[in-house]
Amino acid sequence: MPWDFIGNERAVAALDRALREGRPAHAYLFAGPERVGKGALALKLAQALNCTGDTAHGEPARPEPSRRVEPCGACQPCRRIAAGLHADVQTVTVEPSGEGPQHKAIGVGQIREVERAVILSPFEGRSRVVIFDPADVMTVEAQNAFLKTLEEPPPQVAFVLIATREERLLPTIRSRCRRVELRLLPLAVVEEALLEVGVEAERAPLLARLSRGRIGWALEMARDPSQLDRRREALHFVRALATMTVAERLKLAERLAVDFRRDREGALSLLVEWQGWWRDVLLIQAGAQDGVANQDRLAELGQDAQRCARAGVLAFLRALLAARRHLEENIQPRLALEVVLLEAPEAAITAHLP
Ligand SMILES: [Zn+2]
Repeated sequence: MPWDFIGNERAVAALDRALREGRPAHAYLFAGPERVGKGALALKLAQALNCTGDTAHGEPARPEPSRRVEPCGACQPCRRIAAGLHADVQTVTVEPSGEGPQHKAIGVGQIREVERAVILSPFEGRSRVVIFDPADVMTVEAQNAFLKTLEEPPPQVAFVLIATREERLLPTIRSRCRRVELRLLPLAVVEEALLEVGVEAERAPLLARLSRGRIGWALEMARDPSQLDRRREALHFVRALATMTVAERLKLAERLAVDFRRDREGALSLLVEWQGWWRDVLLIQAGAQDGVANQDRLAELGQDAQRCARAGVLAFLRALLAARRHLEENIQPRLALEVVLLEAPEAAITAHLP
């Protein structure tokens, strides 16, 4: 496995080749679905650019600008980068807390800080690496400010822009980045990786299916099984919704809005679980049981497929997508949740009436 990286061999090979040929890009755009390893690969690239391969104890000599390209993972720079301690490798992200749209974006102020940092030569390694994760939340002003840096990139600096929605980046930014696309992994690869980290043989196939190829999600579930309780709770709600009254739905929306303020990712992942569930319901209605992710819940999926009309399911899936967008941008979270919960499909309890 090149670079000791699971999956997306083509992306890794492209990076490896460019480094071997001594022509790394000044800026990369790592594009692809959520949780497929874009952030992990950005760190691997930072390691590759700074690896000394020197595993001897004590302070390594000032690294020569050698042509070593495969990150060894064991030398001091590699270890410091993996631990987030390397002085030349920096991740720019949204503020972890706070409310309001200004906290869900990367703003001009953060770009100015990056500009100031990258004028200086690397402090402990060969290359300064600045990772924007996620880059697609940069405001337009921030992108315009960043464009100036991209037009005249300082030497010994590499930028990595991580994006699930690259269309949100200005074309002028995108055209100055070397695009590397990461994809969902085959389920067999995810399953193998899960077995490798010690997941039991009975559980691995289900987890792999639930991941839909998102290796990052799968490994996180393997590390922290309590996350699966979340899934159980999410699925409990999604099924209960079908028989809830309007008042009960509004009450649940209020509770979820409070949760969202406390734990944004958790609340968003709830909506993702719901999407997955109703997508499975659609598959069952279409007779495509093989594609179902929630293989351990086929009986309940079958019930929902029978009791809910397809049009209602489709409308709810659309509402879920819209709600996720609103929540991600922090636009009136409570209202977004109310709307989506009111759109949840109703069980056709009147189906037997004349
Ligand atoms: Zn190394």
